[in-house]
Amino acid sequence: MKRTGRGFAALVLSALLAGTGLGVPASAAAVTGAGDGGAAPSRPSYGADLRADATGGRWTGRETVTFGNRSAEPLREVYIRLWGNGTDGCGIPGKPSPVRIDRVTGGTADAPSVGCTAVRIALPAPLPPGGRATVGFDVSITVPDRLHRFGRDGDHRYLGNALPVLAVRDAQGWHLDPHVDRGESYYTLASDFRVTLDHPTGLRVPATGTTTTRPGAPGRSVTTSTARQVRDFAWAAGPFRSGTATSPGGVTVRAYWTDGTPDAWVETARAEALRAIDDLGKRFGRYPYREVDVVLSDRFAPIGSMEFPGLVLVWADEWGGAVVHELAHQWWYGIVGNDEYASPWLDESFAVYSGDLLVGDDGAYCAEFVRWENDTQAVTNSSGYWDAYGPGWSRFVYTNGACVLHDLEKVLGSRAMAAMLREYVRDHWYGVSTTAAFQRAAQAATTTDLTSFWREHRVRTATS
Ligand SMILES: [Zn+2]
Repeated sequence: MKRTGRGFAALVLSALLAGTGLGVPASAAAVTGAGDGGAAPSRPSYGADLRADATGGRWTGRETVTFGNRSAEPLREVYIRLWGNGTDGCGIPGKPSPVRIDRVTGGTADAPSVGCTAVRIALPAPLPPGGRATVGFDVSITVPDRLHRFGRDGDHRYLGNALPVLAVRDAQGWHLDPHVDRGESYYTLASDFRVTLDHPTGLRVPATGTTTTRPGAPGRSVTTSTARQVRDFAWAAGPFRSGTATSPGGVTVRAYWTDGTPDAWVETARAEALRAIDDLGKRFGRYPYREVDVVLSDRFAPIGSMEFPGLVLVWADEWGGAVVHELAHQWWYGIVGNDEYASPWLDESFAVYSGDLLVGDDGAYCAEFVRWENDTQAVTNSSGYWDAYGPGWSRFVYTNGACVLHDLEKVLGSRAMAAMLREYVRDHWYGVSTTAAFQRAAQAATTTDLTSFWREHRVRTATS
């Protein structure tokens, strides 16, 4: 996520990328990392068939999810997260939760909990290690009437964090963290999705994954999207304008934009996306999903920009907005997963640092490291901590966090830092990383003892 844009000059970016000689062989990206510590439910496979009303504001249908148990313990239950209810909770009389599930099969559902963002489904029998099971449910999604990543702007609907997804159980138990208004609470494992979206033909439907659209009933179309090894599924619906281009590295970039977004801004964002998706791939391992949708609006100022796998919502401006930052998230939280509630720096700080690399910003701004206000503040604090802290939190995670990486680059040297990050990505490809895992990767890349570096930069783990 990014709330404020920094005025990077597109010219600088293009000049830099034209001369870049960095490369990661495509084969490096072919490694599948199982590095999620035996988390469950493992390797989820989602199927959803959803039908929109005439406006794209309401979607109903059926969702199923098949999952395994790669942990050592039986799985007695799963939790479905309804993140679309984060803001509205359980609703009010006459206006229920925006996202509801019903007619559960494959288990017995409890009443929603955690502010109606979680539903526990008890399995009929414990799923033993190595087993697989399926649960299914009817799903009803009503897009809230507010400008939001799960919300509406005029005739455009945005369905980010709207599709119910599985919660994760790992060595710490089930992760049932609450919704936060600042930052993100999401923690999901790499999953496969096949989603059909039946919608009025007049609506364009950008979506996670590789999409095809065919005629449906009279006046309607069916967009089918398949995505493998992604952590979430998002889409939008509206009378977008659109254009498709392919990067030199072979990634299809589909841009969608609202009528009011100036053409020049759109062109800048599209050009930056085409360059960034290849350049980030050369640095961290090739973008593996073939297609990315960049959804642009000049009206996202109140909400900023937001990343989803294979789809980014970008607040467009004359510099391209946060398109590079959001695309960097395809690696930091997408390919290399993390618990975004527990360790938001593992996605946000890394996305900022990646964006800096692409424009040749060596972190000179870190000379004015944001002053910590008390001993409990740290780069590594949770989204829950920052949500309670209030506005202004992002300078600690985004700025100080990125400066941890800039300063680490100064300790390791730029070449060693780049090599370390490539290896770190490869080791956690489609897996889940932690602060401790990153510390180990960094320490392995230098003979300098980093203990005091972590302490001074407030990179803390439970044991430090
Ligand atoms: Zn971000």
